[in-house]
Amino acid sequence: MKTLISSTFQSITLFLLCICQQAGAQHATVASPIDVQHYKFTLTLSDATNAIKGKTTIRFKFTRPATSFMLDLTSSKGTRGMLVSAVTYQKNALKFEHHNNQLKVLLPKQAAKGSTYEVDISYEGVPMDGLIISKNSYGDRTFFGDNWPNRAHHWLPVVDHPSDKATCEFIVIAPAHYKVVANGLLKKVQKLATGQLLTHWYQSILIPTKVMVIGAAKFAVQKVGKYKGVEVSSWVFEQDKQKGFKKYAPALDILKLFSQKIGAFPYEKLASVQSKTRYGGMENASCIFYYEASARNNSSIQSLIAHEIAHQWFGNSATEKEWTHIWLSEGFATYMAHVYNEQKYGRHKLVERMKSDRAKVMNYARQTKKPIMNSLPANLNSLLDANAYQKGSWVLHMLRYVTGDKAFWQGIRTYYKTYRGKNAETAGLQQIMEQASGKKLDWFFKQWLYQPGQPTLRANWSYDASNQQLRLTIQQTQNIAYGLFEMPLDISIQSKQGSKPVVKRMYLKKQKEQVITFPLQQAPSAVTLDPNTWVLMKSIVTSK
Ligand SMILES: [Zn+2]
Repeated sequence: MKTLISSTFQSITLFLLCICQQAGAQHATVASPIDVQHYKFTLTLSDATNAIKGKTTIRFKFTRPATSFMLDLTSSKGTRGMLVSAVTYQKNALKFEHHNNQLKVLLPKQAAKGSTYEVDISYEGVPMDGLIISKNSYGDRTFFGDNWPNRAHHWLPVVDHPSDKATCEFIVIAPAHYKVVANGLLKKVQKLATGQLLTHWYQSILIPTKVMVIGAAKFAVQKVGKYKGVEVSSWVFEQDKQKGFKKYAPALDILKLFSQKIGAFPYEKLASVQSKTRYGGMENASCIFYYEASARNNSSIQSLIAHEIAHQWFGNSATEKEWTHIWLSEGFATYMAHVYNEQKYGRHKLVERMKSDRAKVMNYARQTKKPIMNSLPANLNSLLDANAYQKGSWVLHMLRYVTGDKAFWQGIRTYYKTYRGKNAETAGLQQIMEQASGKKLDWFFKQWLYQPGQPTLRANWSYDASNQQLRLTIQQTQNIAYGLFEMPLDISIQSKQGSKPVVKRMYLKKQKEQVITFPLQQAPSAVTLDPNTWVLMKSIVTSK
């Protein structure tokens, strides 16, 4: 999600993030005594008004005995928000209260723990946010869900938190000139007697509300191909179809590459959709939305596509249980996009991207001095920072270095297999990586996720000709607030003959100063720390 494309785009996005801070601060009903199993969303869209009519059937289980339960749904305020007309259970009306964006439904008698209920909620109104009804650059009217982080409740009654995943279906009734796309598989498209078109999509695999969406516009649709039964398609505005189809086509190869590297694609289809999302891309499950100009501009969007497709495994399928673990979503998607570049163009491309990310991480660390794992901010949009994305990606890169390529990829596959369709936490990843590598990784996770910053190493080397020895003194000179670091570290020693440098591995100890010696027959011409770019650090090397 939310990979930013250019500085212009970034400033627009930041502006949007600013005006929507309130959205992030909404309180989720995660404490509600229910576990939602399935949402059936029926929505009527119109050209005459921005008001939508909704009927949602929610099937859920009580997690404890209760006489009421809560859902998130934006209350009606002025001309916007949702007005609930009825809540029914087995066709009997239930009492409800709808205040402060929370819908409290009262039951006639206590529900037992574990009992399953199916309740219908009828409502209508103009969405305050979440379902963006606007016009595209061609002046055509469009409807796009844009739920991240918890903006689904502006148009859908839900438990708006990533820990309550559910299956869902969208039955959308809209004027017939729209094509409608949503999560899951297309069940039905039917012309109604009213002249409207009914489109029914069914998502049979559990997903969080942040990625439950519809898109309705004058789309041109292209079937790109299939990989292991998963159909890949492109949905672009009719005017952009020539260029747009070409730009979205790499999705098929990217899906194939990640399926081979990580495990089976989690969903039933993959649609790439030109949209009006506020983000560069939004990883909606099996129905990725890209920023409008992506289908027609001259910017390469392959890395963006790779990022959003990687989210299908990480974020959508293996979903962070709490927002504070967002790096399990953004850090993974960022690193997997780099891995895609590595596979396609070679390791130099990975290194180039890691170096670019390193600069962002260091710049951010200077400003904030916050670790990746931090307390929950009031504004969830502030979670979209260099810690979640670039530093999270660097953590995976270093994990690959520390555990070795084979164990790392085995661990990634096991992590996905274990948390597929479920919720994950950082400790679960650590446990799996320890099993895969046979190494204790407490120190690694603590240092890189719970400690801020990164090391700055000042190294000085000298050559002792009489003893034929290279002596290296390394000092950790980073900001004292970051603490000290330990890490395996490669040292490259270049001999005077200009022959191939010799790479030796040492262990950087968690101490201010460390002296190590290497036997060496001739004085070197150059000594480099971390020649293959595996460690998030800054280094300055001098010689006596
Ligand atoms: Zn992302």
